[in-house]
Amino acid sequence: MKKYIPYIFSGLIIVFIILFLFKILEGRGIEVFDDLSYYDNMSHNEYDYPVIKDIDELEEDTREKCLEFLKLCQEEGLPVMIIETYRTQERQDFLYAQGRANDNNVVTWTRSSYHTRRKAFDIAKNEKGNEFGDDDFFKRCAEIGEAVGLEAGYFWTDYQDKGHFQN
Ligand SMILES: [Zn+2]
Repeated sequence: MKKYIPYIFSGLIIVFIILFLFKILEGRGIEVFDDLSYYDNMSHNEYDYPVIKDIDELEEDTREKCLEFLKLCQEEGLPVMIIETYRTQERQDFLYAQGRANDNNVVTWTRSSYHTRRKAFDIAKNEKGNEFGDDDFFKRCAEIGEAVGLEAGYFWTDYQDKGHFQN
């Protein structure tokens, strides 16, 4: 009997390791898509979650920095247009769900966002057909944004968000 003890013991350890790994995977699944029924009940029409471009919808400090940013960009002749400011939680969830459903088209990685807290805005180049293509434009804008105290998504290394600013 005694000689079987090491085998029983290592068998138990393996079982515990497997259970532990399942626990981690299960945890991950919940984190990515916690409540499926919530997303199933969402509308698939983007027009039900309209984009807000109004600077006045931003929190005061962000709004002031945004205005300062726009002024400096204008002085340098950079054709900046604001494409989104405040985002409702419903719209954030919609964008999140959209990315997960298609999985080739992830729009946002998070359900929590500086946009929903009125502390972020997105820009594009006001040039038809080349709204997102000019990297030099976004780089310069990002530098100006950082100079007025904003954090520019352009400089994010894990996931670049070219036209995004927050504070
Ligand atoms: Zn953004």
